[in-house]
Amino acid sequence: MQPIRKSKKLDEVCYDIRGPVLEKARKMEDEGQRIIKLNIGNLAAFGFDAPDEIVQDMIRNMANSSGYTDSKGLFAPRKSVMHYTQEKKIAGVSIDDIYLGNGASELIVMAVNALLNSGDQVLVPAPDYPLWTAAVSLSGGTPVHYVCDEQADWTPDIDDIKKKINSNTKAIVVINPNNPTGALYPVEVLEQIIEVARQHQLIVFADEIYDKVLYDGNTHTSLASLADDVLCITFNGLSKNYRSCGFRSGWMVVSGEKKHARDYIEGLNMLSSMRLCANVPGQYAIQTALGGYQSIDDLVAPGGRLARQRDLAHKLLTDIPGVTCVKPKSALYMFPKLDAKMYPIADDQQFAYELLAEERVLIVQGTGFNCPTPDHFRVVFLPNIDDLGDAMNRIGRFLDGYRRR
Ligand code: PLP
Repeated sequence: MQPIRKSKKLDEVCYDIRGPVLEKARKMEDEGQRIIKLNIGNLAAFGFDAPDEIVQDMIRNMANSSGYTDSKGLFAPRKSVMHYTQEKKIAGVSIDDIYLGNGASELIVMAVNALLNSGDQVLVPAPDYPLWTAAVSLSGGTPVHYVCDEQADWTPDIDDIKKKINSNTKAIVVINPNNPTGALYPVEVLEQIIEVARQHQLIVFADEIYDKVLYDGNTHTSLASLADDVLCITFNGLSKNYRSCGFRSGWMVVSGEKKHARDYIEGLNMLSSMRLCANVPGQYAIQTALGGYQSIDDLVAPGGRLARQRDLAHKLLTDIPGVTCVKPKSALYMFPKLDAKMYPIADDQQFAYELLAEERVLIVQGTGFNCPTPDHFRVVFLPNIDDLGDAMNRIGRFLDGYRRR
């Protein structure tokens, strides 16, 4: 029989967060081994339950949810997203500019697909949340990675961005707050990005899904709030801020100068119609979430569970010889660096395999986030304090052995 092959479109697509190392971890679990998982930002799996009012709201609305809705989504939740954009000072957003989706992921793929022709380039951060690179490749475009500078708390290197723009560059992706680095960009950096987008007529794709997961009293500025003359698409949703990953509920907001983008917006509308609509109980939950008690605030405040876990994970990691790590200001992740002399890693996927096999700790290798060098890995600090402490001890022990090889 002829082998059935995956499409060539997938040749350049990579999504290692759920890649081969996770497969190996699953097999180990099937054999009865307990793995400490530092690999995925799935809050509910670590006892960060969704706010009760959201769950109750979804249950209450279940009976009204069996039909399709307008393909952009129900009016009331879109209206609440509109109010949210006003709170975030994003000007000129009407209900028509808001699309609800099955998580931000669906909308990211849609927004990129609606834009790109083969040969088009999109500036994507390195490291990035790899869905962005994958979505650009799947859409036939070319991801061009710009450097986020670890020495500057992982902020985008504006000169590098400028260097990488050419006549094929269509858009720039900005992930702020950032996965995987936990960076939160200063307003001046955001303003510089907007200026570059303005000068080169780039669409700005602003992924702001962690905009309420902020530590140390930090505040978040939406990129789209800084310009009404640049086309921005802002992505957000319930997964992280409201601990509701499984409800698959997100939105995107088109703002800024839209007159010249009518054709693109028509493309967005077409793709939105083709998937009919987002899951309806998830749509209902948006209004309750945005208008309800913002319980994430308690978790990120000093002494809150997330803040304590961030502090502990950061301290224990950076106590290990040859490990440095920018302390995250936001989100759920850190992206430590291993000293290349002490840990001469050629293949960081192999490194992740070995850590898993020897110590039963699951991390994701840095190259899975399009980090150019194999000397980083991502840690999720969601497990409870005891498990985190245990995991960091095991990583320390593994690295100790690695140094002595
Ligand atoms: N954007 C970033 C930066 C993320 O980290 C994630 C999920 O981890 C997503 C988007 C996808 O979110 P959703 O669950 O809304 O699809």
